[in-house]
This record gives sequence, C-alpha cells and structure tokens, in this order.
Amino acid sequence: MMSYPERTVVTGAGLAGFRTVEELRRRGYSGRITLIGAEERPPYDRPPLSKKVLTAGVDPSLHADFTSLDVDFRPAETALAVQASEPSEPSEPSEPSASAAPAPAPAGSELITNRDKYPFDHLVLATGALPVALPGPGPQRFLRTYDDALALRALLRPGLRLAIVGAGWIGAELATAAAAAGCLVTVVEAGPAPLAAALGAAIGARTAAWYEQAGVELRTGTAVQSVEPGGLALAGGWLPADEVVTAIGVRPAVAWLAGSGVALDNGVAVDPGLRASLPGVYAAGDCAAFVSLRFGARLRVEHWETALHAPEVVAANILGGAEVYDPVPYFWSEQFGRMVQYAGHHTPADRLIWRGDPAGATWSACWLAGTRMTAALTVNRPRDLLQARRLIAAGTDVDPARLADPAIPLRAQATALALAGAGQPRYLTRISSGGRYLAYFHGGTPVRRGARGLGRAGWPDQPDQLRRGRALAVLVPLGGQAQDLLPV
Ligand code: FAD
Repeated sequence: MMSYPERTVVTGAGLAGFRTVEELRRRGYSGRITLIGAEERPPYDRPPLSKKVLTAGVDPSLHADFTSLDVDFRPAETALAVQASEPSEPSEPSEPSASAAPAPAPAGSELITNRDKYPFDHLVLATGALPVALPGPGPQRFLRTYDDALALRALLRPGLRLAIVGAGWIGAELATAAAAAGCLVTVVEAGPAPLAAALGAAIGARTAAWYEQAGVELRTGTAVQSVEPGGLALAGGWLPADEVVTAIGVRPAVAWLAGSGVALDNGVAVDPGLRASLPGVYAAGDCAAFVSLRFGARLRVEHWETALHAPEVVAANILGGAEVYDPVPYFWSEQFGRMVQYAGHHTPADRLIWRGDPAGATWSACWLAGTRMTAALTVNRPRDLLQARRLIAAGTDVDPARLADPAIPLRAQATALALAGAGQPRYLTRISSGGRYLAYFHGGTPVRRGARGLGRAGWPDQPDQLRRGRALAVLVPLGGQAQDLLPV
C-alpha cells in the first residue's frame, strides 16, 4: 500500500539522480522526494571535468534549485543497504515489456544510510560508477569527481612528468589537456591500441598518431604491475613519474546493494522500463544495466546522454506509466583537437566499414550486422553521426559499397531505398512498442502522409519524438535526395 503523501527516495546525486527529481516534478509528482548523495557538492556535470574544467576552470555545476523543486537534498550521506519489509528472494527483473504494471514497494521498505533510515514507496538507484584502482603503495589519482579535476588542474604545469595509465576516453582527454599545459605526458596502455576495449584495436590504432602529434608518448601493450612512490613498475621496466593518474575504467557503484535483494548483473539489473527486481525500485545512469529491446542485449551505458534521458522513463513509470528506455546510445569525446562521436552498440562480430581516410582530418567508421547499421564512429564529421544515428534508429538496410563512399551522404542510403520503391511508400521501420510505421514517399509533396493504415508518413528525427508520435514529413523529389524536413 502506498503511503500518503508518497515517498520517493533517490540515491546518488549525479546527473541521473538529479534528472530523476527534476523529471518527477516536471511531470507533476506531488509526493515527497529525498535525494541522497555521497559527495559534499550539489549535482554537477562530469564531461567538462576532463575538458574545460582542466583547461579553463569552468564551473560544471548543474545549478540545482532544491527549494523550488521541493526536494530534501542530503549531501555527504552514503547509502549502505536497501531493506525490503518482507524479505524476499531476489527475482529476475520481469521479461522485457513495455507494460509491466507499476508497483510501489511494500510498506516498511527502507533505504539505510550512514546517517538515517528512509522509508520509501519508490526508490531510484543512481549511484553511478567508481574508478578502478591499480595495485601498489604509490600515490595514484583519478579523474571522476569535480575535486579530482580541481586537484589535477592545480598540478598541471610545464615539465611535470605525468603518467596516465589507460588510453581510453578519459586518458586521452586528460593527455590532451596536460600536453597543452606543457606537461611531459606518457600514456601507458595494456591493450594493443588506444580505445581498443571500447572500439576495437583497428579503430583505436588510427588514433595513436594523435598522441604523437600532441607530443604525448604512448606506450601500448605495456602492463602496469604496480604504482610505486616515484613512478610505475611496468612488466619489464620502470617509468618515473611525478604524478600518476589511473584511468583504466570504472565499475558500477553497486557493491553496497549486495544482500539487499536487488538483482545485480554488471550493475543493477533492470527491465526495459528500468525497474529492478524489487517492487518500487528503479535504476538509471551508469549503475543501471537495462534490457535493450533494440539491440536484444542487456546494456550498461556509461554515457552522459543516458544519465540525462533514462530518468524521464523512471519518472514516467513511477507516475504509473509504461514507458521503455530503448535509445540508440550516444557518446562524444573531445581529444587532441578532434570531436569524436559514437552512436549505437556494436559487437566484435559486426562488420567494420571505413568511410574516408582514417589518416585524414575527418573520417567515419560504421559497423553492420548483415545490412543493418549497428553503430557508427565519426571524427570531425558530426553530420555523419546525426544521419547514422537515424539509420540505426530506423533499422534501415544499407548498401555497404555506398556507405564506404564519404562523398555520399549517409541519409542517401535511405533515399535510395525509398526511390527504389517507385512511388510506393516504403516501410523503413516499425517503432518497437508503439506499433507505428514510418513511410517514405517521393514525388515532391507529402501527399500520402497520414494515409489510412500507415500512421504518419515521416522520417525519424529523434526516437523520442517518434515514440510520442510526432514524426516529421520528408519530401523527396524524383531522382533526388531527402531535402526538406517539415513538421507534420
Ligand atoms: P555519476 O555521475 O557517477 O553520479 C553518481 C553519484 O552517486 C556520485 O556523485 C556518487 O558519489 C554517488 N554515490 C555513489 N555511491 C553512493 C551511495 N552508496 N550513496 C549515495 N551516493 C552515492 N560521457 C559522455 O557521453 N561524453 C563525455 O565527454 C564524457 N566525459 C566524461 C568525463 C569524465 C571525467 C567522466 C568522469 C565522465 C564522462 N562521461 C562522459 C560520462 C558521464 O559523465 C557519465 O555517464 C555520467 O556522469 C553518469 O551519471 P550518473 O548520475 O549515472 O553517475
């Protein structure tokens, strides 16, 4: 039975936690909300930490106004356990579905922190992720919190011997800032290439030259045995360093949930509606491993955009909705003067197609499963990224030969298919749960839009818009390419 007024407790005051409270209020939630965060600071954004906080000292604060949000914010408080009132065996989250009935927590359920106990009807787990440390007695720094970034900013100076362990996204961004500040930067990477774990060695190898061009020494295939005072003990060597930053990845911050009855699977295991295995419990952001209907896999996505949007689904479902979270994941990184963007989700089995010369200033790469695009990476080609994301969202078949030609816009892939339909609407995709169809027409005017039985004619702009049925019409002149996007 729900208490009155209802009580929602959100634990973790990062982007996902803050967005959850924001979305609850925006959607008219009138219950009590408590936000518990381990850090002393109010919520802030993390992407600037490895970018403009280091280089320009910008303030990443999210400027939360908890008074007008009517939220009881508890900083510097750590959640220790979830106590379900009727101890239950952990069960698997429900089968992927858009319509599981929302259920509040049983009366008496509580979140236990280092300071207090908080009864809840709904609990949102948004505890994010924590950096992985290396063994050894030497001092090692991380770049996860605002305080980490401020401390590093104060250290960066010409001549500082900085060893960065890990040539992943954050290692590359830190190396960029440190090299620009005149540090002597060495990046040590156990894998065969930068970003090999995230993107595969073939792609990562194409970024190795960026380090050299920036004056950064990159040592791949080099395992660190331990961090020692004064440097790094390497397998077969020693790297002296004034400062060591470990950037070898993060783990979901869910160890505190062990034994709480919340099922874990590389994070909090949640269904497509972001519901955990206990009634009334949800998870969002870096700590949530959700079932993606689109990719047919459980995904845990450590991307800013996921922390931004997943809370919309959590809030809607707390309010009795039946929404699913099924994005085309998106990530960006700014490294060595380049904008690197990635959309989708690929597996090692997917086929890699290069688009443009990876030695050049701008290029892209796409991954295909059969003839369907699963992911794309772009370097200084934002338009490719936008169009690839639409193709991935629509599940459109693509022609690998045309895809490899950087002179042919990616959106022309869909156009070619539409024109092949000789005047007939061509179904590009079916929106996963809403059962709506999108159709593509040519002939210069959207005469068939809204034709009976078809739903709206249109071209996917953003999956969110589509889910709400707000598609856009697209005009395709005969023999031409999609050019005008008009609101239907
Ligand atoms: P977090 O931001 O980790 O917030 C979780 C909060 O919960 C933390 O404040 C933590 O202290 C708190 N917490 C943990 N355990 C407990 C507990 N038991 N009790 C109470 N509170 C707890 N993504 C991109 O897409 N593009 C980028 O360019 C990019 N750059 C990044 C740069 C850096 C330096 C970092 C660190 C991340 C970057 N990301 C980027 C990733 C993105 O910032 C994260 O995906 C996002 O911050 C996740 O938000 P979150 O709220 O889920 O988790």
